[in-house]
Amino acid sequence: MPRKLAAGNWKMNGTPAALTEVAALCAAHSAPGVDVLLCPPATLLAQMAAATQDHALMVGGQDCHANASGAHTGDISAQMLKAAGAGAVITGHSERRTDHGETDADVSAKSQAAYDAGLIAVICIGETLDERESGTTLSVIDTQLAGSIPDNATAANTVIAYEPVWAIGTGKVPTTAQIGEVHAHIRARLAARFSDAADMRLLYGGSVKASNADDIFAVADVDGALVGGASLKASDFGPIITALSNA
Ligand code: PEP
Repeated sequence: MPRKLAAGNWKMNGTPAALTEVAALCAAHSAPGVDVLLCPPATLLAQMAAATQDHALMVGGQDCHANASGAHTGDISAQMLKAAGAGAVITGHSERRTDHGETDADVSAKSQAAYDAGLIAVICIGETLDERESGTTLSVIDTQLAGSIPDNATAANTVIAYEPVWAIGTGKVPTTAQIGEVHAHIRARLAARFSDAADMRLLYGGSVKASNADDIFAVADVDGALVGGASLKASDFGPIITALSNA
């Protein structure tokens, strides 16, 4: 069984004042069997890493450049994230794919950069509403899996996050049957390519809240969640972590 993971994506939210939420999470957090990852804006990464160094809470980046260094104004390399205290980085989030035109090839290159820097890549995939409604979800997932994951992915260096684009930040959540169908499909596709696929962690992401966490975590092949809005406050994220621990 893969070890469970609750990952939080703060997106473009948070100034140093928000670190009180991390302190509150660390103080209250006691969830055996669950790894916790928080991905703040890059400006908070080092401070959050320092604030959590005595706790079993990993911090991570939200994106990285595919190159280790160079003339790429505004970008951050995986090595830089690692040096700031990160243990992981999200790659291929749908907001990066949409806002910055990132392709599957870009996501694969960024994930490889993460491996090279010693980071876990949390690789995001998921269909749009149009794709869901036209019945192409599983073929979209196949294309993204094939193109976004480097060949040297392992259960130790890779987490896959299934995030239907239409569920992110909308309050709309797929049925547990829909989540289960896609997660089983992802597991099967990974098993055809990677020998340790059974241990790769598959997260569901998209409007996860304390109120729906129990149902989502009961779905087979759901090993945790990637949480956006509900990861910003300890009072919201803490109960999700507890629900995962109890699942
Ligand atoms: C996300 O940003 O990855 C996400 C799932 O956001 P939310 O939980 O707010 O839908």
